[in-house]
Amino acid sequence: MTDVLTGAGIGQGVALGPVLRMADPLPEPSDAPSSRGAEEEKARVAQAVQTVAADLRDRAGKVSGTAADVLEAQSMMAEDSTLADDVAQRIDGGKTAERAVFEGFAVFRDMLVSLGGYMGERATDLDDVAQRVIAALEGRPAPGVPESDTPYVLVARDLAPADTALLDLTKVLGLVTQEGGPTSHTAILAREKAIVAVVGVAGAQDLTDGTEVVLDAAAGAVTVAPSADQRADAERRIDERRAALSGGLEPGALADGSAIPLLANLGSADGTQKALEAGAEGVGLFRTEFLFLDQRMAPTVEQQREQYIRLLQAFPGKKVVVRVLDAGADKPLEFLNDAHEDNPALGLRGLRALRASEDILREQLTALAEADAQTEADLWVMAPMVATVEETRYFVRLATEYGLKTVGVMVEVPSAALLADRVLEEAAFASIGTNDLTQYTLAADRLLGSVAGFQDPWHPAVLRLIGEVGAAGAARSKPVGICGEAAADPLLAVVLVGLGATTLSMSPAALADVRLSLKRYTLDQARSLAEIALAADGAADAREAVRAAASRFTSPA
Ligand code: PEP
Ligand code: MG
Repeated sequence: MTDVLTGAGIGQGVALGPVLRMADPLPEPSDAPSSRGAEEEKARVAQAVQTVAADLRDRAGKVSGTAADVLEAQSMMAEDSTLADDVAQRIDGGKTAERAVFEGFAVFRDMLVSLGGYMGERATDLDDVAQRVIAALEGRPAPGVPESDTPYVLVARDLAPADTALLDLTKVLGLVTQEGGPTSHTAILAREKAIVAVVGVAGAQDLTDGTEVVLDAAAGAVTVAPSADQRADAERRIDERRAALSGGLEPGALADGSAIPLLANLGSADGTQKALEAGAEGVGLFRTEFLFLDQRMAPTVEQQREQYIRLLQAFPGKKVVVRVLDAGADKPLEFLNDAHEDNPALGLRGLRALRASEDILREQLTALAEADAQTEADLWVMAPMVATVEETRYFVRLATEYGLKTVGVMVEVPSAALLADRVLEEAAFASIGTNDLTQYTLAADRLLGSVAGFQDPWHPAVLRLIGEVGAAGAARSKPVGICGEAAADPLLAVVLVGLGATTLSMSPAALADVRLSLKRYTLDQARSLAEIALAADGAADAREAVRAAASRFTSPA
């Protein structure tokens, strides 16, 4: 029987190819006392650290984006003075340079692990730096990606960011790691580079060079030595995805034909072209605050009107949902909320801040109404951070005063989700901001690395709230959109539809994968997947259970 290993898949890709393993880490340096003097050992460490930091910086200069940031951060870890002091003390105690680096870095690594979440996942970055310094001390080549003339599936304990950043994408068909979670750097970079990856795969250590494997990221599965049928299925899916990603721009729909319009999240009118090229059927979230983040004074009506006209003109006849200014913790607008708050996420943000400066809100509604009158798009307007039915009533009444026809609210606070039936009595539609809804449901600041592990919209508590909104929308025939990051997760998108979402909005780069994923399931299947997710105890369980069930739906009979 074919072996199937499981882990956390990144994205939706499928890959098929022979395994090539990354060299195992260096052996642990001996604990025998140093035969050199302490000063000589310290000089060796200083030299090795300098070489490694320079190499990492050099690599950072050859790449861009997250990859460059990660490498830059690693070069700084290598040169960290607290770490250097720790290593020097160990050398003074009689250790060799290799052993002192090994032990010193391990202490800091354990500290990161004990912090958990985002910090915990940085431990791998530090391990990699330690290995590089020890390799430099021993005069060995730094551990890294194997060389090959033919394409392969790279298997590693955990890929060091320095390696991920420089992977030759013409050779690496996919990536399997034994360690690492969905928010590790390996995962982040794999996502950014669209590498088919399954991380945290128990049993990956037993995969040997040359063994053929199929990676199925959506299912989080690695099939070892696939049968002829499994190979053929993988090849079909690779072709299907390639075709879908290279231009199949049909409207979003499920396998049974149920339409699920796919919309774009935009922060300026400059992004409209890209959104249209990616097949966006409209705009599901236009973040107006992004237009004015660096402004000290409130934008004028004219200034705003010009921007809104540019946006609306790009989508004649199409739906464009504009959100009024959402000033808040991560998006301070000096002219709306400049007072210090100890807990800004719970403070005067979103609609609350606008209400406190109603003249600014009125000017924005004026600009929107004027832009609407001069263009052909179907303009919808919504308010952020609405917590109560009364706030809903307030916003709908005010926007209606300006002649705006379709006025709704964002559901980002659990109170609004729990009372969605009453909120949707007042509002024409709801749009669920899953980023904030997750932050507020799990009481975990979305900007704080130490609690990043909680920021997972797969959590059944979040899904249950989304289900409340979906049910309320269905009961009143009112649209319920999703515009948080959750909509960009291809499998979660199906679950969200099963919970009652009628449209999905995301960054344009995510549209193709979500479009493809929706096409694989019927509405009934989406509802069953939603039930499965709701029945789980936590986010990871929900994701795993849905993955397992989804692969049964899509595997050939
Ligand atoms: C959200 O909270 O999910 C959302 C879409 O709004 P933002 O990310 O801009 O807060
Ligand atoms: Mg939000």
